[in-house]
Amino acid sequence: MSDTTSELADNPLLATEGLPDFARIEPSHVVPAVRHLLATSLERLEALEANIQPTWEGVIEALEGLDRPFEHAWQPVSHLFGVKNSPELREAYETVLGEIVEFGLRASQSEPIYRAIKELRDGEVWNTLSPTRKRIVEKKLLDAELSGIALSESDRERFNEIAGELSQLSTDFSNHVLDATKAFSLVIEDPQDAEGLPSSLRQLAAQSYNESQQQEEGGEESAAEATPESGPWRITLDHPSFGPFLQHCCNRNLRERVYRAFITRAAEGEFDNSDSIPKILSLRVEKAKLLGYEDFAAVSLATKMAENVAAVEQMFETLRSASWNSAVQDLDDLKQLATASGCEEPLAHWDVAFWAERLRETRFDFTDEQLRPYFSLERVLDGLFSLVNRLFGITVESVADVSVWNDDVRFFNIHNEAGEHVASFYLDPYSRPENKRGGAWMDECLSRRIVDGSVQLPVAQLVCNSTPPVGDKPSLMTFREVETLFHEFGHGLQHMLTTVDEADASGISGVEWDAVELPSQFMENWCYHKPTLLGMAAHFETGEPLPDDLFQKILAARTYRAGSMMLRQLLFGMTDMALHHGYDPDGDETVFSLHERMAEKTSVLPMRAEDRTLCAFQHIFAGGYCAGYYSYKWAEVLSADAFGAFEDAGLDNERAVSETGRQFRDTILSAGGGRHPMELFKAFRGREPSPEALLRHNGLS
Ligand code: ZN
Repeated sequence: MSDTTSELADNPLLATEGLPDFARIEPSHVVPAVRHLLATSLERLEALEANIQPTWEGVIEALEGLDRPFEHAWQPVSHLFGVKNSPELREAYETVLGEIVEFGLRASQSEPIYRAIKELRDGEVWNTLSPTRKRIVEKKLLDAELSGIALSESDRERFNEIAGELSQLSTDFSNHVLDATKAFSLVIEDPQDAEGLPSSLRQLAAQSYNESQQQEEGGEESAAEATPESGPWRITLDHPSFGPFLQHCCNRNLRERVYRAFITRAAEGEFDNSDSIPKILSLRVEKAKLLGYEDFAAVSLATKMAENVAAVEQMFETLRSASWNSAVQDLDDLKQLATASGCEEPLAHWDVAFWAERLRETRFDFTDEQLRPYFSLERVLDGLFSLVNRLFGITVESVADVSVWNDDVRFFNIHNEAGEHVASFYLDPYSRPENKRGGAWMDECLSRRIVDGSVQLPVAQLVCNSTPPVGDKPSLMTFREVETLFHEFGHGLQHMLTTVDEADASGISGVEWDAVELPSQFMENWCYHKPTLLGMAAHFETGEPLPDDLFQKILAARTYRAGSMMLRQLLFGMTDMALHHGYDPDGDETVFSLHERMAEKTSVLPMRAEDRTLCAFQHIFAGGYCAGYYSYKWAEVLSADAFGAFEDAGLDNERAVSETGRQFRDTILSAGGGRHPMELFKAFRGREPSPEALLRHNGLS
């Protein structure tokens, strides 16, 4: 038995104020701190339930008080799980994760709390609350109701049964996709068949071959090792293999085989998902009806910015009709190039990626390596900080001697125009495959809220996976890495420039899911703004600016095949929405013919009859995007239109840019989750969002 008191004394996770002491947090701190916190929180929760008052302070503030210690004890742990993983941390994390989830469910499904929130909503206090507080109360009520809390006992029993079945079905769905993906491989032995494959794919495919041989033969002596130069190469249906293979393999028959395998993944045999789809859809309809909604799309939209299905469908149709002709032209271009290159057969689906890549090479080929020397992290940060200074009047200042989780991590303070410190952020810029997960994200380290009568300033964690410095060269970024940094910084701005004092609505908290990418994608737009980009793109050795032809190529690449890409995303979004609205899973039309019906409106090259890509559509059958896939486009419309406000004001007019920037800051960034996103957008833009700017940026208007 360990001595509990000594484990708790001096445990950095039990701090109750200030920044986490990252340098001191050890995996051994996790379990004792979290268990101690859970025990005291449960006591506090029970005490609250026993004596709850239907007032703002009595319910909402009391709940926030329960949450707050987790900000110090659990947020740093889940953050470190992503950026400084180790077997010890993983074990500690997994030991308490279930208990954390259980406590969260216990609190969110508490009937006394639900009743008190409802009384607050219906009582006399209601009219004394600010609009932000009203919004918080209503959202809490809605979340509780969507979790089934208000149902009669028998309905709730069925509701929970459905939840269990759906969870099992989606786990199986996802496992089937995984297993079906693993089950297929194409081994290429003849170097002639590997013609066209780029060296990165050859490397991956040779490695994949060697790994599969090891697995098959166990300890036995294995056949000759594959090499990237002479094979054999093993092609799989994983994206890093499948994608470049279709783009580059010159052997048309092999492309066809791989393509056909891809579109019939998890659609037959032991990993068949075909029957699960209507089952999942039926259960979702039943769940929606129990909750009093017409269909599952209505449940999904209840918590989103889009008002109803009609609004989403209208967006689909505007984008679709504007993209069609351009996509027809895209396909014609490919046909012409294929014919001119001696291809006699009609263009098929397995040819599209291949010829699109050849056309790209002839039109504006450039590589990451050509651009890198112009984007050193230091100059990019200078450019980014000077942009946000011009737009929002804020100043970013580097701070030394802050406790961090890795020596490469930096810390900055943000000051407003009056010189007041308003927020801070960590930046963890580089890829570190040994203990850091891939991708990029923004985490909320501390939220703006009132603690003991004074404001706790928001602190963000911005995490990227950019190329680290090599030798005496600085970190040289690809253009995509620059865009990603701007993207995450946009999320960070909304978290940090909030002026809301209630943690449930400050920063990105409480922002509707289909609006949360607005500030992030908005910031990406500035990477295509010539003065902004040229202001930070200078050769790290010679200082020479980015050559104009490279800038023009970056611009051209942005709109290349934009109509075709748009239609592809619309096919996913429209199919998702149609399956969850107006479709009868027990009726005559199969899900596959519905998919085909949507493809008739969105695929210039008709969909193949055997296409079963729905059987691998994990976003909507095993993820959270059901009746929500449209959100990708919805948020793009918002962010492009927000940038359009700056274009309308005149990007060359410094004063207009700064005025528009202040407006953006004082609406979307500062109010964040405190007001409905449509209301905020209208306050910023003076009207409802329009897809015009998105189409224009894509060269489709
Ligand atoms: Zn994002």
